Amino acid sequence: MHSIKKLMRVEMTTGLKVLVFVVLTCSGTTQAFKLGGSPEPADAPPPVQGLALDIHFGDPIHEDMTKASLALALSQARTPTGKMACRVSAEAIDRYLEVSGPIVLSHRMCCQSGASSIACDDLKAAGQDGNFFDVSLPLISGVRWNDDICHMSHARRSGLWWLLGWMTGLDIMRFNNVNYASHYHEWQFLHAMAPIARSDSPNIFQDADTTYKRILMWTELAFRVAEGTIPAHATLEQAKQYLEPRSHKGFNLAFRSYAESKIKISFLFTGVDDASDAQVRLMALGALLHTLQDSFSSSHVEREFDPVYRMKPLVGGKGRIVRFHTYRVQSPSRHGIADHRPLDLEDTTVGKLHPVALGAEFIACAVSGQTSGHSQWIAARDVAGRSFELARPGPNLGANAGKHYQGRISDGTEAP
Ligand SMILES: [Zn+2]
Repeated sequence: MHSIKKLMRVEMTTGLKVLVFVVLTCSGTTQAFKLGGSPEPADAPPPVQGLALDIHFGDPIHEDMTKASLALALSQARTPTGKMACRVSAEAIDRYLEVSGPIVLSHRMCCQSGASSIACDDLKAAGQDGNFFDVSLPLISGVRWNDDICHMSHARRSGLWWLLGWMTGLDIMRFNNVNYASHYHEWQFLHAMAPIARSDSPNIFQDADTTYKRILMWTELAFRVAEGTIPAHATLEQAKQYLEPRSHKGFNLAFRSYAESKIKISFLFTGVDDASDAQVRLMALGALLHTLQDSFSSSHVEREFDPVYRMKPLVGGKGRIVRFHTYRVQSPSRHGIADHRPLDLEDTTVGKLHPVALGAEFIACAVSGQTSGHSQWIAARDVAGRSFELARPGPNLGANAGKHYQGRISDGTEAP
């Protein structure tokens, strides 16, 4: 029998060894595809107090999928070969990617919003709870945001806490903070997984249609921020007014307490109230792409087909969504089995049900909305409808762990 504590000890030993080489390896967390390092912009501003660090992770799958989507969007802008939901020029995409001014982050979405933790107390005592310059491109920081909402992996000291807190599954950053909400509770939809409210019995699993609607609400919110319809400096409460009325209930269930605390959209994504419009737009787009990409991981979502080639999962050739999984009852170690790099990561064309192809359409629509000043949500909603389409719409299958990923029981420990 493996107790969770035993597993944690093994993982921590490995993790600390890896940290010596400043290479953090993801395992046992809820991200479907592993995070990776990103190229540092040549003209990156110097980090405040030396905080920022270009920490490299195992296999940069989310980043590579995002770059592949960007490359596809650019190639379609230059030479269209398929039907994109939105049509834009390559120059418009290039302009959308430009950020003038400093790119600033902080850890305060965890350390100011919600209950504090020993990690936050330590950062505060060390004077590292303020703003710092990011050394990653905002689109890449955005695609990392869902797994690291408080940007703990972007700086040296917080990165160690992030490693201890999230790579090992220890409880030190637990309870009332957004990382915990994202991984275990009401924000699991950020990873295309079924949310479970903190007050819910662990045996109550959300219906697939409810999760689908929650993901569409989040997709609209992130998309409208990405295209600039929702201003970066609107409050989260004001942002709700931009959403379709049918999304309001899901918004309240997901964001009410954060909206009531009057946080701004800029703060949600960066931890800073006055981040630049372009930085916030790009980070929201990255966060949306993360959810899309996760929805093609078998440990997050059961789709109609689950193609595997040479023991490796594929993301192409999958069908519509049958049911969502929920991390609360999964074995963290088994969850990670589906995290391997898909062999067909870049093997796609526009129009296919593939996260890179669909991501290219979301990018083109966000650029089109921002460039024209007219929302492209209706076009993006069509992309979302194809991305997250349910095989059986209406009341249907409740979330579960997934047959290959069972393991954690209701008290949070791993089953024998
Ligand atoms: Zn994820």
